[in-house]
Amino acid sequence: KGNDGKYTVTLIEGDGIGPEIAQSVKDIFTAAKVPIKWESVDVTPQLKDGRTVIPQEAIDSVTRNYVALKGPLATPIGKGHVSLNLTLRRTFNLFANVRPCKSIAGYQTPYDNVDTVLIRENTEGEYSGIEHIVVDGVVQSIKLITRAASERVLRFAFQYALEVGKPKVRVVHKATIMKMSDGLFLRTARDVAKEFPQIEFDAELLDNTCLKMVTDPAPYADLVLVMPNLYGDILSDLCAGLIGGLGLTPSGNIGDECSIFEAVHGSAPDIAGKGLANPTALLLSSIMMLQHMGLHQHAEQIQTAIFKVLAEGKTITGDLGGKAKTHEYAGAVIKALN
Ligand code: NAD
Repeated sequence: KGNDGKYTVTLIEGDGIGPEIAQSVKDIFTAAKVPIKWESVDVTPQLKDGRTVIPQEAIDSVTRNYVALKGPLATPIGKGHVSLNLTLRRTFNLFANVRPCKSIAGYQTPYDNVDTVLIRENTEGEYSGIEHIVVDGVVQSIKLITRAASERVLRFAFQYALEVGKPKVRVVHKATIMKMSDGLFLRTARDVAKEFPQIEFDAELLDNTCLKMVTDPAPYADLVLVMPNLYGDILSDLCAGLIGGLGLTPSGNIGDECSIFEAVHGSAPDIAGKGLANPTALLLSSIMMLQHMGLHQHAEQIQTAIFKVLAEGKTITGDLGGKAKTHEYAGAVIKALN
């Protein structure tokens, strides 16, 4: 927090529709008088000795400010490029990916009672990047699970449940098959659960979770789900589908020191520059960010305005079946603030 009472937050506008949806966030935050100053940084990847690296100024900015809001980044296709998102995650050790999915009144889906929170281990598991050829035609990929990384994300899940008032944490796993790796994750969960007697704890097999969630998501409203990396990747898209797709889902990447909040969707090159993008996912990510920063009143005020505009359904963007341009939707949210 600076002398002017404002928090400085790093803003990575991103590629494609990124700058358009970031503009909506900036306009709405200004109108809602959120005490935040944006520090815009460029993260266009640079190739250094065959490795993709993020410009140092961007790294310094996030390190200094602890909090960043990030638009989608287009991953350049070709050799030598690691996904920039993965690079950011590794650079700042963003060990937990939090993805809430809540039904949005006014946007019709087969379910109107979805309220799930999924926490994905973000640093190891199937994403450890350890793969090799054994002999021609045989490859091996290593799923790395450590007690340290498991403990960290599990403890975070319990703390998160306490913070948002969910009574229960559930581990999603396949320890029946991956006895050692998922077994370690599950055992660690049982140990961590003892530190949180006020939170209930249980475990469920991933396939069973998928079946039950698409059959009836309502019972999952009382839970925080936590799981190894790949399961979280897949199951969180399943949850997104339950509320109407990626255009509406926010996420937070939480680290020991820094946290980066971002929409789940990509840079949407097909509609970029046309003023057609829906900024809701980035807006909801920015609301998660405000809550993380303890600015709950501003978060509540903006969220209420967004849900009101969506429920009215008069000024919504094309992906939701409306005709409004990005800035018209943002304008309606600003009007709804009071
Ligand atoms: P995408 O999410 O960009 O687009 C998929 C479809 O959804 C497109 O038809 C697009 O128009 C639509 N869409 C997405 N967001 C929208 C929004 N806010 N409003 C309205 N419509 C929206 O996925 P893609 O096309 O597979 O990927 C495009 C690029 O984005 C790729 O370079 C990919 O690597 C990158 N990407 C980045 C992230 C990230 O930064 N977190 C995530 C996913 C993909």
